Amino acid sequence: CGIVGYIGKASAPSILINGLRRLEYRGYDSAGLAVLEDGRVIVSKAPGKVASLHEKARHDWPAERFARCNTGIAHTRWATHGPPTEINAHPHLDESGDIALVHNGIIENYRSLRTRLESKGHHFYSETDTEVLSHLIGDNDKGDLFQAVCDALHQVEGTFGIAVVSAREPDRIITARRGSPIVIGVGDGETIIASDASAIISHTRQVIYLEDNDIAIVTADHVEIRDLDQVPVTREVAELGFDA
Ligand code: GLU
Repeated sequence: CGIVGYIGKASAPSILINGLRRLEYRGYDSAGLAVLEDGRVIVSKAPGKVASLHEKARHDWPAERFARCNTGIAHTRWATHGPPTEINAHPHLDESGDIALVHNGIIENYRSLRTRLESKGHHFYSETDTEVLSHLIGDNDKGDLFQAVCDALHQVEGTFGIAVVSAREPDRIITARRGSPIVIGVGDGETIIASDASAIISHTRQVIYLEDNDIAIVTADHVEIRDLDQVPVTREVAELGFDA
């Protein structure tokens, strides 16, 4: 349902939770976030409101750790596959636990992909279609997250807006879309990703709208967009109006 991603110098958990609040009007049943801290991915999830996630995250991590995390992704879920439980909430991890993903949309061929990955030794914890995508990315990761996401997206049928982080490549967020919107806000030394510009407007008015089958490498000061065959594409930077 709603996606927010942040990479920059500020406290990512605070920015992610504020961004999720801006997306609440769209409706959702659970929420979660993943941030990078000292070479690890840390996840906090909760059924119900963003306020419950905020409480849980505050309880899970002391404030000084909150402030140190400068990269992360977050999600409000509107369940399509599996009930709105903590386990089914996004982000979902890959088998290694280093890669975290949030997803809007539906992976139509998740059953066959899950069966194949399970036969290779992958363990699944949720009932979602989404978890197959985080595992598929991990399965394709030979040291280049962007390449792994491209390879995985070639194998999925359905719709997606996604944001992906890896503890092994903490300087970037990979984001992509097919049939589900992604907007990238280009700030001063920080970049904010969202499924809806209302989560970006308080940070910057300079935005890039991804088109279907675009995949972007997002760092704190750079956005590089290619198609799924890795061919670079150019997208205009648009200016958000005051009514966004
Ligand atoms: N199909 C996914 C799920 O049920 C994503 C739903 C959404 O767009 O929030 O977890």
